[in-house]
Amino acid sequence: MEEKCMCEPDEILIFTCSISSNVGQIGNLAGLKLTREKVGKMFCLAGIGGHVSGMIESTKAGKMIVGIDGCPVACAKKILDHAGFKADEYVQVTEMGIEKNHGFDYLQSDVDKVAAHLKSRISQRRAA
Ligand code: SF4
Repeated sequence: MEEKCMCEPDEILIFTCSISSNVGQIGNLAGLKLTREKVGKMFCLAGIGGHVSGMIESTKAGKMIVGIDGCPVACAKKILDHAGFKADEYVQVTEMGIEKNHGFDYLQSDVDKVAAHLKSRISQRRAA
């Protein structure tokens, strides 16, 4: 069966790590917020990890890769690296002063903080 992704390639592709911690949730929701604000578009990191050919090709066609990890374990970065991609913009949620725990509660203000940080970095890069 042909491997196809239902996502459309986009100029700015946003990859977030898994979400089984508060900081993973925050990173994921920040990616979603940036997608809703049309800054970029979330893309399927699991498809990259699975080396799904259509998704690899779509990622190659993107103009900017944005990676968001919850913590220094850096799962999203490692998955991208393993597939031969390097994030043009990258952030770890814990770098922004947000402590990791293994719960799922989060503050919307933390989501907004991560999204605003990346939005600013992306617009600076686009203007350069
Ligand atoms: S980077 Fe951290 S928060 Fe994200 S999936 Fe890996 S361990 Fe979990």
